[in-house]
Amino acid sequence: MMSIQRRQTPSLWIGKVEVGGSAPVSIQSMTTTRTTDIRATVAQISELATAGCDIVRVAVPDEASSHSLAELVPLSPLPVVADIHFNHTFALRALDAGVHGLRINPGNIGSAERIASVVEKARSRNVPIRIGVNAGSLEKDILQRHGHPGPEAMVESGLRHIALLEKLNYRNMKISLKASDVYTTMQAYRLIASKVPYPLHLGVTEAGTEFGGTVKSAIGIGGLLSEGIGDTIRVSLTADPVREIRVARKILQSLGLRREGVNFVSCPTCGRVEVDLVSLANRVEEALQHIPHPITVAVMGCPVNGPGEAREADYGIAGGKGRGLVMHHGEVVGWFPEDQLVETLLALIHKDFPAPSDF
Ligand code: SF4
Repeated sequence: MMSIQRRQTPSLWIGKVEVGGSAPVSIQSMTTTRTTDIRATVAQISELATAGCDIVRVAVPDEASSHSLAELVPLSPLPVVADIHFNHTFALRALDAGVHGLRINPGNIGSAERIASVVEKARSRNVPIRIGVNAGSLEKDILQRHGHPGPEAMVESGLRHIALLEKLNYRNMKISLKASDVYTTMQAYRLIASKVPYPLHLGVTEAGTEFGGTVKSAIGIGGLLSEGIGDTIRVSLTADPVREIRVARKILQSLGLRREGVNFVSCPTCGRVEVDLVSLANRVEEALQHIPHPITVAVMGCPVNGPGEAREADYGIAGGKGRGLVMHHGEVVGWFPEDQLVETLLALIHKDFPAPSDF
Protein backbone atom coordinates (compact mmCIF):
# COMPACT_ATOMS: atom_id res chain seq x y z
CA MET A 1 0.00 0.00 0.00
CA MET A 2 1.21 3.50 -0.84
CA SER A 3 2.28 5.38 2.25
CA ILE A 4 0.92 8.84 3.03
CA GLN A 5 3.28 11.76 3.51
CA ARG A 6 1.83 13.35 6.62
CA ARG A 7 1.94 17.07 7.30
CA GLN A 8 4.59 17.87 9.91
CA THR A 9 3.14 19.14 13.18
CA PRO A 10 4.52 19.67 16.66
CA SER A 11 3.30 16.97 19.01
CA LEU A 12 1.30 17.39 22.16
CA TRP A 13 0.11 14.99 24.81
CA ILE A 14 -3.44 14.27 25.91
CA GLY A 15 -2.53 12.28 29.00
CA LYS A 16 -0.52 9.33 27.72
CA VAL A 17 -1.62 9.76 24.11
CA GLU A 18 0.64 11.70 21.79
CA VAL A 19 -1.08 13.71 19.08
CA GLY A 20 0.81 15.13 16.13
CA GLY A 21 4.51 14.78 15.40
CA SER A 22 5.22 11.22 14.35
CA ALA A 23 2.47 9.73 16.52
CA PRO A 24 -0.10 7.53 14.78
CA VAL A 25 -3.41 9.21 14.01
CA SER A 26 -5.46 8.76 17.17
CA ILE A 27 -9.16 8.04 17.49
CA GLN A 28 -11.51 10.06 19.64
CA SER A 29 -15.14 9.86 20.59
CA MET A 30 -17.52 11.55 22.97
CA THR A 31 -19.70 10.04 25.67
CA THR A 32 -23.46 10.28 25.33
CA THR A 33 -24.24 9.69 28.99
CA ARG A 34 -24.88 12.42 31.54
CA THR A 35 -21.44 13.36 32.80
CA THR A 36 -22.87 13.47 36.32
CA ASP A 37 -23.76 9.78 36.02
CA ILE A 38 -20.27 8.56 36.84
CA ARG A 39 -21.09 4.87 36.66
CA ALA A 40 -22.74 5.04 33.25
CA THR A 41 -20.08 7.36 31.88
CA VAL A 42 -17.17 5.20 33.04
CA ALA A 43 -18.95 2.11 31.64
CA GLN A 44 -19.31 3.82 28.26
CA ILE A 45 -15.69 4.99 28.28
CA SER A 46 -14.61 1.41 29.01
CA GLU A 47 -16.66 0.16 26.04
CA LEU A 48 -15.05 2.80 23.84
CA ALA A 49 -11.59 1.82 25.07
CA THR A 50 -12.27 -1.84 24.26
CA ALA A 51 -13.43 -0.84 20.78
CA GLY A 52 -10.14 0.97 20.11
CA CYS A 53 -10.78 4.56 21.17
CA ASP A 54 -7.68 6.50 22.29
CA ILE A 55 -9.13 9.70 23.77
CA VAL A 56 -12.60 10.45 25.11
CA ARG A 57 -14.42 13.77 25.39
CA VAL A 58 -17.15 14.46 27.90
CA ALA A 59 -19.64 17.32 27.84
CA VAL A 60 -19.48 19.79 30.69
CA PRO A 61 -22.71 21.72 30.19
CA ASP A 62 -23.40 22.71 33.78
CA GLU A 63 -22.06 23.23 37.27
CA ALA A 64 -22.88 19.69 38.41
CA SER A 65 -21.01 18.16 35.46
CA SER A 66 -17.95 20.29 36.17
CA HIS A 67 -17.94 19.05 39.78
CA SER A 68 -18.32 15.40 38.75
CA LEU A 69 -15.04 15.47 36.77
CA ALA A 70 -12.96 15.09 39.92
CA GLU A 71 -14.54 11.70 40.51
CA LEU A 72 -14.76 10.70 36.86
CA VAL A 73 -11.25 11.42 35.59
CA PRO A 74 -9.36 9.01 37.91
CA LEU A 75 -11.81 6.22 37.02
CA SER A 76 -11.54 6.70 33.25
CA PRO A 77 -9.44 4.16 31.34
CA LEU A 78 -8.88 6.79 28.63
CA PRO A 79 -7.51 10.34 28.74
CA VAL A 80 -10.43 12.73 29.24
CA VAL A 81 -11.05 15.96 27.34
CA ALA A 82 -13.58 18.33 28.91
CA ASP A 83 -15.86 19.97 26.36
CA ILE A 84 -16.72 23.42 27.65
CA HIS A 85 -18.51 26.35 26.11
CA PHE A 86 -18.42 29.93 27.37
CA ASN A 87 -17.70 29.21 31.05
CA HIS A 88 -14.17 29.77 32.29
CA THR A 89 -15.04 28.60 35.82
CA PHE A 90 -15.95 25.17 34.48
CA ALA A 91 -12.65 25.10 32.61
CA LEU A 92 -10.66 25.97 35.74
CA ARG A 93 -12.55 23.32 37.70
CA ALA A 94 -11.95 20.74 34.97
CA LEU A 95 -8.22 21.48 35.08
CA ASP A 96 -8.22 21.08 38.87
CA ALA A 97 -10.00 17.74 38.38
CA GLY A 98 -7.05 16.54 36.29
CA VAL A 99 -8.60 16.46 32.81
CA HIS A 100 -6.04 15.71 30.10
CA GLY A 101 -7.39 18.12 27.52
CA LEU A 102 -9.73 21.05 27.20
CA ARG A 103 -11.97 21.83 24.27
CA ILE A 104 -12.80 25.49 24.65
CA ASN A 105 -12.74 28.48 22.36
CA PRO A 106 -10.87 31.26 24.16
CA GLY A 107 -12.76 33.97 22.32
CA ASN A 108 -16.00 32.73 23.86
CA ILE A 109 -15.11 32.93 27.53
CA GLY A 110 -15.10 36.68 28.03
CA SER A 111 -12.47 39.04 29.37
CA ALA A 112 -8.72 38.86 28.81
CA GLU A 113 -8.32 38.01 32.53
CA ARG A 114 -10.59 35.02 32.21
CA ILE A 115 -8.75 33.75 29.17
CA ALA A 116 -5.42 34.24 30.92
CA SER A 117 -6.58 32.40 34.04
CA VAL A 118 -7.56 29.33 32.00
CA VAL A 119 -4.42 29.44 29.89
CA GLU A 120 -2.12 29.78 32.91
CA LYS A 121 -3.72 26.84 34.66
CA ALA A 122 -3.57 24.75 31.48
CA ARG A 123 0.09 25.72 31.10
CA SER A 124 0.93 24.74 34.66
CA ARG A 125 -0.66 21.32 34.10
CA ASN A 126 0.62 20.85 30.56
CA VAL A 127 -2.93 20.41 29.28
CA PRO A 128 -3.53 21.09 25.58
CA ILE A 129 -6.45 23.20 24.44
CA ARG A 130 -8.44 22.33 21.37
CA ILE A 131 -9.93 25.24 19.54
CA GLY A 132 -13.07 23.82 17.99
CA VAL A 133 -14.66 25.97 15.32
CA ASN A 134 -18.08 24.84 14.19
CA ALA A 135 -19.67 26.27 11.03
CA GLY A 136 -22.98 26.46 12.88
CA SER A 137 -21.77 28.83 15.57
CA LEU A 138 -19.45 31.36 13.96
CA GLU A 139 -19.07 34.87 15.36
CA LYS A 140 -21.68 37.30 14.02
CA ASP A 141 -19.20 39.78 12.55
CA ILE A 142 -17.35 37.04 10.67
CA LEU A 143 -20.60 35.63 9.36
CA GLN A 144 -21.75 39.07 8.22
CA ARG A 145 -18.51 39.80 6.44
CA HIS A 146 -18.42 36.48 4.61
CA GLY A 147 -22.16 36.18 4.09
CA HIS A 148 -22.20 32.45 4.85
CA PRO A 149 -20.32 29.95 7.05
CA GLY A 150 -17.86 28.85 4.36
CA PRO A 151 -14.28 27.62 4.73
CA GLU A 152 -12.77 31.13 4.75
CA ALA A 153 -15.13 32.29 7.50
CA MET A 154 -14.33 29.20 9.58
CA VAL A 155 -10.61 29.74 9.16
CA GLU A 156 -10.92 33.40 10.13
CA SER A 157 -12.72 32.35 13.29
CA GLY A 158 -10.06 29.72 14.03
CA LEU A 159 -7.24 32.21 13.52
CA ARG A 160 -8.91 34.67 15.88
CA HIS A 161 -9.03 32.09 18.68
CA ILE A 162 -5.50 30.93 17.91
CA ALA A 163 -4.22 34.53 18.13
CA LEU A 164 -5.64 34.83 21.64
CA LEU A 165 -3.62 31.83 22.80
CA GLU A 166 -0.49 32.84 20.90
CA LYS A 167 -0.68 36.30 22.48
CA LEU A 168 -0.24 34.51 25.81
CA ASN A 169 2.59 32.50 24.30
CA TYR A 170 0.51 29.34 24.54
CA ARG A 171 1.08 26.92 21.69
CA ASN A 172 -0.01 23.66 23.28
CA MET A 173 -3.08 23.50 21.08
CA LYS A 174 -4.80 21.65 18.31
CA ILE A 175 -7.49 22.89 16.00
CA SER A 176 -10.70 21.60 14.49
CA LEU A 177 -12.88 23.29 11.88
CA LYS A 178 -16.01 21.25 11.48
CA ALA A 179 -19.00 21.65 9.22
CA SER A 180 -21.75 19.21 8.35
CA ASP A 181 -20.95 19.74 4.67
CA VAL A 182 -18.08 17.57 3.51
CA TYR A 183 -16.65 19.97 0.94
CA THR A 184 -16.73 22.94 3.35
CA THR A 185 -15.02 20.87 6.02
CA MET A 186 -12.28 19.69 3.69
CA GLN A 187 -11.58 23.15 2.31
CA ALA A 188 -11.47 24.67 5.79
CA TYR A 189 -8.89 22.13 6.97
CA ARG A 190 -6.76 22.51 3.85
CA LEU A 191 -6.75 26.26 4.34
CA ILE A 192 -5.87 26.23 8.03
CA ALA A 193 -3.19 23.59 7.40
CA SER A 194 -1.47 26.06 5.10
CA LYS A 195 -1.56 28.83 7.69
CA VAL A 196 -0.69 27.38 11.11
CA PRO A 197 1.60 24.59 12.29
CA TYR A 198 -0.67 23.05 14.94
CA PRO A 199 -1.99 19.48 14.97
CA LEU A 200 -5.46 19.13 13.50
CA HIS A 201 -8.39 17.23 14.94
CA LEU A 202 -10.53 16.12 11.99
CA GLY A 203 -14.24 15.62 11.89
CA VAL A 204 -17.33 16.18 9.80
CA THR A 205 -19.78 17.38 12.39
CA GLU A 206 -23.40 16.33 12.66
CA ALA A 207 -22.62 13.92 9.87
CA GLY A 208 -25.88 12.06 10.35
CA THR A 209 -27.00 8.55 11.13
CA GLU A 210 -24.73 5.54 10.93
CA PHE A 211 -25.09 4.96 7.21
CA GLY A 212 -24.94 8.54 5.91
CA GLY A 213 -22.47 9.67 8.54
CA THR A 214 -20.12 6.83 7.73
CA VAL A 215 -20.05 7.79 4.06
CA LYS A 216 -19.57 11.50 4.79
CA SER A 217 -16.83 10.81 7.31
CA ALA A 218 -15.06 8.37 5.05
CA ILE A 219 -14.94 10.99 2.31
CA GLY A 220 -14.21 14.03 4.49
CA ILE A 221 -11.86 12.58 7.08
CA GLY A 222 -10.45 9.94 4.77
CA GLY A 223 -9.92 12.46 1.97
CA LEU A 224 -7.98 14.84 4.21
CA LEU A 225 -5.93 12.04 5.74
CA SER A 226 -5.04 10.81 2.28
CA GLU A 227 -3.64 14.31 1.61
CA GLY A 228 -1.53 14.01 4.76
CA ILE A 229 -3.74 16.38 6.80
CA GLY A 230 -4.93 15.33 10.25
CA ASP A 231 -3.46 14.08 13.50
CA THR A 232 -6.48 12.83 15.41
CA ILE A 233 -10.01 12.05 14.25
CA ARG A 234 -13.55 11.89 15.51
CA VAL A 235 -16.30 10.31 13.46
CA SER A 236 -19.64 11.85 14.51
CA LEU A 237 -22.62 9.55 14.15
CA THR A 238 -26.15 9.68 15.47
CA ALA A 239 -25.56 6.24 16.92
CA ASP A 240 -23.86 4.40 19.76
CA PRO A 241 -20.37 5.99 19.94
CA VAL A 242 -18.81 2.53 19.76
CA ARG A 243 -19.95 2.52 16.13
CA GLU A 244 -17.92 5.70 15.61
CA ILE A 245 -14.79 3.86 16.69
CA ARG A 246 -15.46 1.04 14.25
CA VAL A 247 -15.80 3.50 11.40
CA ALA A 248 -12.75 5.49 12.50
CA ARG A 249 -10.63 2.35 12.68
CA LYS A 250 -11.77 1.27 9.26
CA ILE A 251 -10.92 4.65 7.76
CA LEU A 252 -7.40 4.52 9.24
CA GLN A 253 -6.96 0.89 8.25
CA SER A 254 -8.13 1.52 4.68
CA LEU A 255 -5.48 4.22 4.30
CA GLY A 256 -2.74 2.13 5.88
CA LEU A 257 -2.50 4.57 8.79
CA ARG A 258 -3.22 1.80 11.28
CA ARG A 259 -2.30 -1.80 10.77
CA GLU A 260 -4.01 -3.44 13.69
CA GLY A 261 -7.37 -5.12 13.35
CA VAL A 262 -8.84 -7.45 10.79
CA ASN A 263 -8.72 -6.53 7.13
CA PHE A 264 -11.97 -8.12 6.05
CA VAL A 265 -12.52 -9.07 2.42
CA SER A 266 -15.85 -10.36 1.12
CA CYS A 267 -17.47 -10.43 -2.29
CA PRO A 268 -20.76 -8.71 -3.20
CA THR A 269 -22.22 -12.09 -4.29
CA CYS A 270 -23.84 -12.67 -7.67
CA GLY A 271 -25.93 -15.24 -9.48
CA ARG A 272 -23.24 -17.88 -8.90
CA VAL A 273 -23.50 -17.91 -5.11
CA GLU A 274 -24.94 -21.06 -3.55
CA VAL A 275 -24.45 -20.34 0.16
CA ASP A 276 -25.97 -17.60 2.34
CA LEU A 277 -22.87 -15.46 2.01
CA VAL A 278 -24.34 -12.27 3.47
CA SER A 279 -25.06 -14.06 6.73
CA LEU A 280 -21.69 -15.86 6.74
CA ALA A 281 -19.75 -12.65 6.10
CA ASN A 282 -21.63 -10.65 8.72
CA ARG A 283 -21.19 -13.34 11.35
CA VAL A 284 -17.46 -13.64 10.70
CA GLU A 285 -16.91 -9.88 10.65
CA GLU A 286 -18.90 -9.35 13.85
CA ALA A 287 -17.05 -12.14 15.66
CA LEU A 288 -13.67 -10.62 14.77
CA GLN A 289 -14.49 -7.02 15.70
CA HIS A 290 -12.16 -6.84 18.66
CA ILE A 291 -9.22 -8.75 17.24
CA PRO A 292 -6.26 -6.36 17.37
CA HIS A 293 -4.03 -8.50 15.14
CA PRO A 294 -3.41 -7.28 11.58
CA ILE A 295 -4.79 -10.32 9.76
CA THR A 296 -6.67 -10.60 6.49
CA VAL A 297 -9.81 -12.70 6.43
CA ALA A 298 -11.69 -13.39 3.19
CA VAL A 299 -15.23 -14.72 2.89
CA MET A 300 -16.02 -15.34 -0.76
CA GLY A 301 -19.10 -16.66 -2.50
CA CYS A 302 -18.09 -19.24 -5.08
CA PRO A 303 -15.29 -21.22 -6.69
CA VAL A 304 -14.70 -18.60 -9.41
CA ASN A 305 -12.85 -15.86 -7.46
CA GLY A 306 -13.22 -17.37 -4.02
CA PRO A 307 -10.24 -19.70 -3.74
CA GLY A 308 -7.88 -17.05 -5.13
CA GLU A 309 -8.87 -14.42 -2.55
CA ALA A 310 -9.13 -17.00 0.23
CA ARG A 311 -5.63 -18.24 -0.60
CA GLU A 312 -4.19 -14.71 -0.49
CA ALA A 313 -5.81 -14.06 2.89
CA ASP A 314 -4.53 -15.41 6.20
CA TYR A 315 -7.85 -17.17 6.69
CA GLY A 316 -10.53 -17.69 4.10
CA ILE A 317 -13.77 -19.28 3.08
CA ALA A 318 -14.74 -19.93 -0.55
CA GLY A 319 -18.38 -20.97 -0.89
CA GLY A 320 -19.57 -23.92 -2.97
CA LYS A 321 -22.97 -25.62 -3.30
CA GLY A 322 -24.26 -25.73 0.28
CA ARG A 323 -20.71 -26.13 1.53
CA GLY A 324 -17.43 -24.27 1.42
CA LEU A 325 -13.68 -24.51 1.27
CA VAL A 326 -11.78 -23.28 4.33
CA MET A 327 -8.23 -22.07 3.79
CA HIS A 328 -5.43 -21.15 6.17
CA HIS A 329 -2.35 -19.29 4.96
CA GLY A 330 -2.93 -20.47 1.41
CA GLU A 331 -3.42 -24.12 2.37
CA VAL A 332 -6.70 -25.98 1.99
CA VAL A 333 -7.99 -27.07 5.39
CA GLY A 334 -10.96 -28.89 3.86
CA TRP A 335 -14.54 -28.72 2.65
CA PHE A 336 -17.17 -28.16 5.33
CA PRO A 337 -20.99 -27.99 5.29
CA GLU A 338 -22.36 -24.45 5.18
CA ASP A 339 -23.55 -24.55 8.79
CA GLN A 340 -20.03 -25.38 10.02
CA LEU A 341 -18.05 -22.85 8.00
CA VAL A 342 -18.10 -19.93 10.44
CA GLU A 343 -17.27 -22.06 13.47
CA THR A 344 -14.45 -23.82 11.61
CA LEU A 345 -12.90 -20.56 10.47
CA LEU A 346 -13.19 -18.92 13.89
CA ALA A 347 -11.72 -21.99 15.60
CA LEU A 348 -8.66 -21.71 13.34
CA ILE A 349 -8.23 -18.03 14.16
CA HIS A 350 -8.75 -18.55 17.87
CA LYS A 351 -6.19 -21.35 17.84
CA ASP A 352 -3.55 -19.01 16.41
CA PHE A 353 -4.35 -16.14 18.76
CA PRO A 354 -5.28 -15.77 22.42
CA ALA A 355 -8.69 -16.82 23.69
CA PRO A 356 -11.61 -14.82 22.28
CA SER A 357 -12.16 -13.18 25.67
CA ASP A 358 -8.69 -11.60 25.35
CA PHE A 359 -9.47 -10.01 22.00
FE1 SF4 B 1 -19.98 -13.92 -7.62
FE2 SF4 B 1 -18.25 -15.78 -6.91
FE3 SF4 B 1 -17.37 -13.29 -7.40
FE4 SF4 B 1 -18.78 -13.77 -5.22
S1 SF4 B 1 -16.76 -14.63 -5.71
S2 SF4 B 1 -19.13 -12.11 -6.66
S3 SF4 B 1 -20.20 -15.33 -5.89
S4 SF4 B 1 -18.27 -14.70 -8.87
